[in-house]
Amino acid sequence: MKTTFRPRLLNGQTGDPALLLTLRWQGRALLLDLGRIDRVPAALLLPIEAVFVSHAHMDHFMGFDQLLRLFLARDTTLRLYGPAGLADCVAGKLAGYVWNLTDEYAFTIEVTEIAPGEMRTFRFPARRRFVREPIGGPRPFDGVAFADSVLTVEAAPLDHRIISMAYAVSERTHLNVRPDALAAAGLRPGQWLNVLKTAVRSGADDDTPIEVLPGDRRPLGELRDTLLSVTPGQKIAYVVDTLFSPANVAAIVRLAAGADLFFCESPFLDDDREQATRRYHLTARQAGALARAARVRRLQVFHFSPRYEGRYGEIVAEADAEFSGQEIVYGGLERGGAALS
Ligand SMILES: [Zn+2]
Ligand SMILES: [Zn+2]
Repeated sequence: MKTTFRPRLLNGQTGDPALLLTLRWQGRALLLDLGRIDRVPAALLLPIEAVFVSHAHMDHFMGFDQLLRLFLARDTTLRLYGPAGLADCVAGKLAGYVWNLTDEYAFTIEVTEIAPGEMRTFRFPARRRFVREPIGGPRPFDGVAFADSVLTVEAAPLDHRIISMAYAVSERTHLNVRPDALAAAGLRPGQWLNVLKTAVRSGADDDTPIEVLPGDRRPLGELRDTLLSVTPGQKIAYVVDTLFSPANVAAIVRLAAGADLFFCESPFLDDDREQATRRYHLTARQAGALARAARVRRLQVFHFSPRYEGRYGEIVAEADAEFSGQEIVYGGLERGGAALS
C-alpha cells in the first residue's frame, strides 16, 4: 500500500520527542510534540499546520520558540492542541518577548485545550501583540481533537502525574490510482488526479465534472469507479510519557487499536521497571506489550533515557521481543498479550 503519511522522528529515537508527519503530495504536515527542532531544515517545518502536544514538560515543548521564529512573518495560522493549561504555557512563552513591531503581521497562533468532555480554543494574534482571545465557548470533546476531509486526529488523556495526551492520526480513506485503468481510458497522470481525489474525499456529487484534459470533463463517479481503488486509510498512533497502569493501558489499547505504525516511548529497560513506574514512564517491555495488545502492525520505540547510551539496541530488542510474543513470561500482574486487553 502506498502510504500518505511520511513520519520522521526529528531527533531520532534518542533525542527530544518531535514526530513530523508529512502528508505526501499535499504540502501539509503535522507535528506531534515540540521538542528541540533547531537543527531541522526550515523547509521541513514550514508545511506544519498543527502541532499536537502531549504535555508541556520541557523536552516536549522547548521547540515552540523556534517554530514561532520561523512562522512569525508568515500570513498563516499555526494551531496547537494539547491538555488543559497549554494556553497558559503559550501565553507564558509569548510574554517573554517584546511585540511592538508586529501590528502589521497576519500570523496567529490558535491553541485548543482538550479537557475531559470539552475543548476550548484561544487565539493569539501577532497584530494584537499576541494578547489571548477566546474563540467561542467550550465545545464537547468526544475523542476527536481534529478532523478534516483527509484525516482525523483522536486524543486520549493519560496519567503521567499530569495529563500526557496520546494521539492517533488516521487517514480517512486511501485513494490509489490504477495505472492500467488510467492507460485503458487513454488518460495521463496529472494535477487533475489530485482534484479528483480531493473531490472524492470531500464527498462531492457523482456528476461533479472533472477536467481530465483541456476541454474534456468527465463525471466524478465514473472516474472514481474506473480509475481509483478506495481502501481504509493509514493510522499512526503516538504515546509518550505515561505510567503502565490499568486505566492507561486500556486507553492506549483503545486509541492505538490496529494502527499501521505505533510510536511508543520506551525510556527504560524492564530491569529498571520500578524506577520507570516512579517516574510515570513505560519500559521497553511494556511498550511491546501495549503494541501487541493493540494489534498494531509495526512498533517504533523512542524517547530512550540517556542512561542506556551504548545499550540502545537492548531497548529495541526487548520491545520487539515482547511485541512479537517471543517472551511472555512476565513477573506480577502486568503482562502482555490478552491479559492487557
Ligand atoms: Zn514528561
Ligand atoms: Zn519526556
